[in-house]
Amino acid sequence: MTELERLAAEIAQCQKCQLARGRIKTVPGYGAADARLLFIGEAPGFHEDRQGLPFVGPDGQFLDELLRSIGMSREQVFICNVVKCRPPNNRDPLPSELEACRSYLDRQIEFLRPRMIVTLGRYSMARYFPNVPISHIHGRAKKIGETLYLPLFHPAAALHQPRYRSAIEQDFLKIPDLLKQAVPAEEDHPGEQAEQLNLF
Ligand code: SF4
Repeated sequence: MTELERLAAEIAQCQKCQLARGRIKTVPGYGAADARLLFIGEAPGFHEDRQGLPFVGPDGQFLDELLRSIGMSREQVFICNVVKCRPPNNRDPLPSELEACRSYLDRQIEFLRPRMIVTLGRYSMARYFPNVPISHIHGRAKKIGETLYLPLFHPAAALHQPRYRSAIEQDFLKIPDLLKQAVPAEEDHPGEQAEQLNLF
């Protein structure tokens, strides 16, 4: 059993917040254990709660379409959410729930050590780009430590709003070049905690 699988088993037993009461299945994440690219969404929805897999509803089909547009599939990346259980009626996760679940995502990132993290929507974005509206910074990469971060709109929002859809489609096309430019840990310069890459 890998560290990620052990963590998924731990999440399946989790009762740390009230979302445990309403869930059918926990949704720890899905993808390659050696993925260089990590996508982080917000929370499981109706379909994800039933299947225990992230992004399997209409927004997931759109995410697959976006991955295909850059010649990738979900088997080559890792996809997860900031909270691992479905909030009732798909409401936004509460601050207390985000905090309770935070360590699971921290540990996933620690195990995966991705070169690049793409945040989908404002909740995952807020971890790395606090207090900034997503409309101001979507599609603009930032390097923090060893990892390159790219904030994008959430596919669910983009599905129903043409201007967000066009934005996420265009932003997605930047991923292959950014991934190539993401600096491996051994080449990183010590002491640089937050370096803004001027890639656009
Ligand atoms: S949302 Fe996270 S912290 Fe809350 S019960 Fe589920 S796994 Fe545990």
